[in-house]
Amino acid sequence: MADAELVVIGAGPGGYAAAFLAADLGMDVTLVDPNPNPGGVCLYRGCIPSKALLHVAKVIHESGQAPNWGVTFSKPTFDLDTMRAWKNSVVEKLTGGTGEMGKRRKVKYRQGKAHLTGPTDLYITAADGSTETISFGKAIIATGSYPAGLPGFPKSPRIWDSTRALDLPEVPQRLLVVGGGYIGLELGTVYAALGSKVTVVEVLDSLLPGVDPDLVRPLARRLQKEFEAIQLGTRVTEVREEKDAIRVTLETEGKKPAEAAFDAVLVSVGRRPMTKGLGLQHTKVQVDGHGFIHVDAQRRTAEPTLYAIGDVAGEPMLAHKATHEGRTAVEAIHGDAVAFEPAAIPAVIFTDPEIAWAGLTEAAAKERGRPVRVAKFPWAASGRAITLGRTDGVTKLVVDPETERILGMGVCGPGAGELIAEGVLAIEMAARVKDVELSIHPHPTLTESVMEAASVFFGTSPHYYAPKRKGKQG
Ligand code: FAD
Ligand code: NAD
Repeated sequence: MADAELVVIGAGPGGYAAAFLAADLGMDVTLVDPNPNPGGVCLYRGCIPSKALLHVAKVIHESGQAPNWGVTFSKPTFDLDTMRAWKNSVVEKLTGGTGEMGKRRKVKYRQGKAHLTGPTDLYITAADGSTETISFGKAIIATGSYPAGLPGFPKSPRIWDSTRALDLPEVPQRLLVVGGGYIGLELGTVYAALGSKVTVVEVLDSLLPGVDPDLVRPLARRLQKEFEAIQLGTRVTEVREEKDAIRVTLETEGKKPAEAAFDAVLVSVGRRPMTKGLGLQHTKVQVDGHGFIHVDAQRRTAEPTLYAIGDVAGEPMLAHKATHEGRTAVEAIHGDAVAFEPAAIPAVIFTDPEIAWAGLTEAAAKERGRPVRVAKFPWAASGRAITLGRTDGVTKLVVDPETERILGMGVCGPGAGELIAEGVLAIEMAARVKDVELSIHPHPTLTESVMEAASVFFGTSPHYYAPKRKGKQG
C-alpha cells in the first residue's frame, strides 16, 4: 500500500487549495513545499506583498491629490524598515493562516523539495539535507514558476528580480525597469511613489502588449507623468557594472544606441515554469517548447498517476487560475466528471488606474476575425468617478452581435479589479446585455459603469449620449 493516497508538490494557491479540498473530500494528503507554511510565490513573494506595497503607493498618490480637495498634508517621509515590517506581517498573517487551515484538515505538511523517482515514488529533501521517501497513489505537480533572466546581465546586488524588489532593499534614485508587463508596471508604480525616477524599457511597441489599447491608454497617460521615461520598442543590448551604478546601452528601432546609468535595474521580462530537479525524466510527463507541463482538460499529464496545475501547467500564470485548476484535478482524482473549461479567467493589473479584463477581448476578437459589438462607458460620465476625482476610466462590454450575449468585459480605472467579477459572472452565466442593463446597480458606485455600458449598447445611457447607429458594428 502507498504511504500517501495523494501527494501535492508545491504549496502555492494551486497546491494548497488542491490539498485542502482533497482533505475535505476525505483523502489522505501530503503537501510538500520548501516554505515554512503553505502560500507559494503568491503569498510569500508575489500577489500579496506586491499588493501591500501598492496600497502604500495608493495612499501616497491620494495624499498628493488631496490639495485639489482643500486638504494639504505635509510631504510624506518614508521609513523603509517599518514599511517592510508591515508588508512582512501581512505575509506572515496569511501564511500562518494557511498553515493552520492545513493542520485542521490533517494535511501532512512536509517542508522540503520533492524529487520524483518514478510514477508513484518520490523523495523529499529538507533544508538540513535529510531525506524522506514516499510512495503515493496520485500526485499533483504544482511547482509554479520562477523569474526569467536575461543573458548578459551580470549577477549584482543592483540587478533585481521581483523577489528582491519586494524586499525593499533601498529606494534607488534611478531605477531601470526592463519589461513593461504586470510586474514592471506594478513595482515601477511602487518605487515611483517612493521617489525613484523610474525608466521602463519595453521591447514591444506598447506597454502591456496584448491588452486592449483603449484600456492601456489611460494608464500609459498617467505613467508618462509619474515615470521618468517609458521607452517602447527598446531593448537593453549591453549591461556593465560600474563602481556606483549599472550602465546600460539601450537600442530603440530607428534611433542611435544610447547609454544611461541607473542605481538599480529590475528585470521583469516574464516567468518560466519550475520543473528543475523535479525528476520528470523518471516519468512519462511531457513538456511543451516553453517548458510547461502538458495537461488535458482534467489536468492529467501523460503519466496516469500525475496531474499538473498552476503556473507550471501553462498560461495565464495567475493565482486564481491555479486554484481553479487545483479544484478540477482533485475532483477528477475523486472520480467526478469535471473539466477545466472556463469561459472567463479574469486578469487584473493593480496599477493606478487598475486594468482588468475577462473573457473575449476586442483585440482577440479582431485577431480571430470574430464579429463583435463593443459598448463603452467613459467614467467622465460617472457620478462616483467624479466624486473620486478619477474620471480617466472606461468600462467596456464585448458583445455577440447576433445573440447579444456578453462575451467579454474590460475596465480601466481605480477598483477595476473588483468590478471585473461582475463581468466574469455575466460571461459564465451567458448573460445578455439586457440582463445587465435591467439589473439594478447601487448608486453612486463605479459598478454602475457596467450597467451604463449595457445601456450604451442600446443607445439609451442616461448619462452618456451615444445613440445607437443603425447597422453600425463595433
Ligand atoms: P506558486 O505560487 O509559484 O507556488 C509553487 C510552490 O512550489 C512554491 O512555494 C515553490 O517553492 C514550490 N516548489 C517548487 N519546486 C518544488 C519542489 N520540487 N518540491 C516542492 N515544492 C516545490 N497572480 C495573480 O493572480 N494576482 C496577482 O496580483 C499577482 N501578483 C504577482 C506579483 C508578483 C511579483 C509575482 C512574481 C507574481 C504574481 N502573480 C499574481 C502570479 C502568481 O503569483 C502565480 O500565478 C501563482 O503564485 C501561481 O500559483 P502556483 O500554485 O502555480 O505556484
Ligand atoms: P509579463 O509577461 O507580464 O511582461 C513581460 C514584459 O517584458 C512583456 O511586455 C515583454 O514584451 C517584455 N520583454 C520581454 N523581453 C524583453 C526585453 N529583453 N527587453 C524589454 N522588454 C522585454 O511578465 P512579468 O511582468 O515578468 O510577470 C510575469 C507573470 O507573473 C505575468 O505574466 C503574470 O502572469 C504574473 N503576474 C501577475 C500579476 C497580476 O495578476 N496582477 C502581477 C505580477 C505578475
